[in-house]
This record gives sequence, C-alpha cells and structure tokens, in this order.
Amino acid sequence: MRCKREENAANCNCSYPCDKKGLCCECVSYHRARNELPACYFLDDVERTYDRSLRKFMETKGI
Ligand code: SF4
Repeated sequence: MRCKREENAANCNCSYPCDKKGLCCECVSYHRARNELPACYFLDDVERTYDRSLRKFMETKGI
C-alpha cells in the first residue's frame, strides 16, 4: 500500500512543527500512547493550544 503522506499533510490542521505530519499511523500511535488525540480532532483555535488530552477533547464537545 502506498503511503499517502502528501495528501494527508494537505488535509492536516496541525500547526506544530513535527516530523509525523502526514504520517497518520505514527501520529495516532504517538498520541494514543499518551492518552491523547491527534490535532485533527480539535478545532483550529483549540489545536493551537497543543493540549491534545482526552479531557480537553471532551471539554470542547461538552461531554
Ligand atoms: S498531531 Fe501530534 S504527532 Fe500529529 S503531526 Fe501534529 S504534533 Fe505531530
């Protein structure tokens, strides 16, 4: 299977300078190991805080 890194990166809202940008498999794995979610789960203004915690996600969803 061909890696779609360029296509993924074009649709990625992550503003953090990171070598995993577009490598969604590594991105998800990295954040999952920290009980976090990737940038794309957050609206842009929340994404820019770099708080990727499950707590922050639930807070933004009113859960
Ligand atoms: S969400 Fe996290 S792992 Fe993914 S590109 Fe952004 S900083 Fe890197």
